[in-house]
Amino acid sequence: MCGIVGYVGFRSVSDLLVEGLHRLEYRGYDSAGIAILHEGKMSVRKKAGRVLELAGILQSQPILGHAGIGHTRWATHGAATDQNSHPHLGGNGEVAIVHNGVIENYDTLRKQLTALGYVFHSQTDTEVAAHLLAHNLEEQIILGGSASDIETCLKVVELTLEKLKGTYGLGIMFRDCPDTVIAARCGSPLVIGVGKDEYFLASDASPLVGYTKEVVYLSDHEVAVLQPTGLRIDHRKTGSVFPNVHVLEQVSADIELGDYEHYMLKEIFEQPQTVENAIRGRLDSEEATSVMGGLNLTAKDLRRIDRIVLTACGTSWHAGLVGEFLLEEFARVPTEVEYASELRYRNPPMTDRTLVFAITQSGETADTLAALRECKRKGHPTLAICNTVGSTIAREADGGIYLHAGPEIGVASTKAFTSQVTVLTLLALYLGRMRHMSYPAGRRIIGQLRDMPDKISKTLQCHDKVLEVADKYFRFNNFLYLGRLYNFPVALEGALKLKEISYIHAEGYPAAEMKHGPIALVDEQTPSVFVIPRGGIYPKVVSNMEEIKARRGPVIAIACEGDTDIARVADDVIYVPDVEEYLQPLVCAIPLQLLAYHVALLRGCNVDRPRNLAKSVTVE
Ligand code: GLU
Repeated sequence: MCGIVGYVGFRSVSDLLVEGLHRLEYRGYDSAGIAILHEGKMSVRKKAGRVLELAGILQSQPILGHAGIGHTRWATHGAATDQNSHPHLGGNGEVAIVHNGVIENYDTLRKQLTALGYVFHSQTDTEVAAHLLAHNLEEQIILGGSASDIETCLKVVELTLEKLKGTYGLGIMFRDCPDTVIAARCGSPLVIGVGKDEYFLASDASPLVGYTKEVVYLSDHEVAVLQPTGLRIDHRKTGSVFPNVHVLEQVSADIELGDYEHYMLKEIFEQPQTVENAIRGRLDSEEATSVMGGLNLTAKDLRRIDRIVLTACGTSWHAGLVGEFLLEEFARVPTEVEYASELRYRNPPMTDRTLVFAITQSGETADTLAALRECKRKGHPTLAICNTVGSTIAREADGGIYLHAGPEIGVASTKAFTSQVTVLTLLALYLGRMRHMSYPAGRRIIGQLRDMPDKISKTLQCHDKVLEVADKYFRFNNFLYLGRLYNFPVALEGALKLKEISYIHAEGYPAAEMKHGPIALVDEQTPSVFVIPRGGIYPKVVSNMEEIKARRGPVIAIACEGDTDIARVADDVIYVPDVEEYLQPLVCAIPLQLLAYHVALLRGCNVDRPRNLAKSVTVE
């Protein structure tokens, strides 16, 4: 959530910042703004709304310069207004800042600074940091420091950070310190791009693509000074840090729309490829198992594990639920799925034989990171299932498995879900083969996994049918999503997709459990989407469907190709290829993603920028 950009060097900074903000807009789109420092003058342009609006303002009121910071906001404190937009100025404009995160003690600080005469122009928590910087600068100057001296500025930053409680990724510029951007991080991601005589700052690597391939990930409690002449990083406790340069693998095509109208649709259609990427090089037919290099635990360590905790938020939590079923079925290891936002404050009994997996697309989700750190602090081995290489969770976990799905930009997660489920299947196979699973069973699973990219391509052929169904149902205001066993998490995920992008109320439920409450919602105006491919309890789910029909509820079925009987009960059927039960989430999730997409479009919603949401939830 929230995108920060910054730059020092020789390029004209205004266009560069705006382009960077466009690329980061999926992280927040309440407002956008930039500050540019040029010849001792700090100029700010900012506006509530999309980056496009900011770009419009800059056309009529351009700013020159080669050093600047920018921000696209996901509001936590204060409404999405022009005044609350970042950058914020401190004092009389001696300092400009952009901030990602939440300053928890902002109220106390605001009172103290107001008493000292500082005038607040916004309702944000961020503005206290801006004024505190200005105040500390004033004090340092009284003590003999100089506003143009980087050591004074760094001292000011340190004195300010000492006072802040909460989380922050900060981009800071001091008006009298030319060609300098200072970055500081505690809990919110920041990455620095290294160029020749130029440095970039960003919340994630996407603004850097096409400019540099060399990046340095800032860690918590580090402060970086970016100047055209060089990069300096200090850890607030331990001092100077040697910048560890990583090579960026993203290419421009990864972050471009191509022929698609929306990122969400592009990412849905990428799934044959992304699932292929998730299994590539990881299947060992000879040993009938999977190979995962990054777990960093020996086979002996893994055999000792007698419990697994999967922790995640949102869509990743749903993937985790599929993972629980897979791990318990294949490996017979008791597994729980915990909401990270709850786990971070709970204290469930866990022993030294408990293995913790954090599942996260971005690798920056604040709650998941906090839960991971809490488990790590207690001494548990913590691993990550993550998409973003170099992200905080990927770096802090003891090991893990990358999805290799490429950047997911659509705010509603799609390809990350199927990749997470694929990787969890590989994990269950691996742990299963170290325990009870036979060689032929392992071989069978490998064969079926290899077929999945092809099956997913075939699944996407349901697109026209989904469009027809969306057209029939898009005016309804309540939906139930029902499924059992492996398809219960799929029902949850389908309902979440619809809520996220079309703002329609939808509930996901185990199909048989709906008798215990949600069935009261059923009437002609409440369609039920049944995820009902063939399987052991198929006839039971058909009975659940009959129960809905008996109450005049419209029924949409996601069923296996060839299942013509289902059409006698359901009003509409969307067919998917027949696959083993444990692989059904990989095909059944896809028509539900497409259904949410088309219903949202038909209702005139902005699919890639759903209201109130943003990608990469870096606040608690
Ligand atoms: N808390 C700050 C605000 O509401 C920053 C939010 C963000 O991370 O975008 O303005």
